Amino acid sequence: MKKKLFLAEPLGFCNGVRLAVQRFEDMRKKYPGELIYVLHELVHNSVVTQSMREKGAIFVNSVEEIPVGAVALFGAHGVTTATEEAAKKRNLRLSNAVCPLVVQLQVKAARFDPDIPLVFFGDKQHPEVQSILDHAVAHDIHVISSKEEIDSLPLMQRAVFLSQTTRNAEVVAAIAKRLAERIPQFDNQAHVCPTVQKHQEAVRLLAQTCDAMLIIGSPHSANGRYLAELAGISTGHARLVENAQQLKPEYFDDIETLGLGTATSTPDSVIKDVIDWIHAHGFETVQ
Ligand code: SF4
Repeated sequence: MKKKLFLAEPLGFCNGVRLAVQRFEDMRKKYPGELIYVLHELVHNSVVTQSMREKGAIFVNSVEEIPVGAVALFGAHGVTTATEEAAKKRNLRLSNAVCPLVVQLQVKAARFDPDIPLVFFGDKQHPEVQSILDHAVAHDIHVISSKEEIDSLPLMQRAVFLSQTTRNAEVVAAIAKRLAERIPQFDNQAHVCPTVQKHQEAVRLLAQTCDAMLIIGSPHSANGRYLAELAGISTGHARLVENAQQLKPEYFDDIETLGLGTATSTPDSVIKDVIDWIHAHGFETVQ
């Protein structure tokens, strides 16, 4: 008898990633044959990055590395105002594919009362977090990356709270609850991306009923890593793989039911390859 494969719904790109990849294709059409300088990785997925390189993308870590007047693209995570200014000075032929949801958070952070401390849950090194915090006007900003770090925050009478869009919604809610217990005037303005929440919810449900979970995503995709953690909590048996080449038959030896989810930066071509591999190794998809 065939083993069973259950697919999370949704799978694949979120709107922000789809928009960024589409912008790259639009720029190729607009400037045929020209190199396109992309600030950081446009999408946190190695397959997408490699494909863009083959189509003429040059990835750089700062605007200063981009030649004056060149064609350039900023990605979904947004950039700091200093980067925007530097881009203007270089007279770049620029397209900015920042996700509308990240823009919303930048605007929010810029409108809070500057005298109210801002507590931000996220990874300080992540470009999205840097771009949002750069727009924040609060004089007093505290970035925490775990629930445990709440204990080391100074005493505050009031604070507003924001989080990185791709964080685990349950963890964000738990942190907000603990902060509300500690801070008398606490304003929770955190907003986990709805698409990320849908991915998380689908994986959480599948993980409750499947023997094992497989998450397709790059190890440097934050939301892919969180999905793998979430899946592992229920099944105790979850793997994060980047592509079909990383799969090994022995992973699935004692598995009768397998759930599959993806990061929001995983392209359809990779999902198809992985599903084909799984089908070729004794599973059938159950709708
Ligand atoms: S995960 Fe959500 S916030 Fe991040 S780029 Fe995609 S749609 Fe935008």
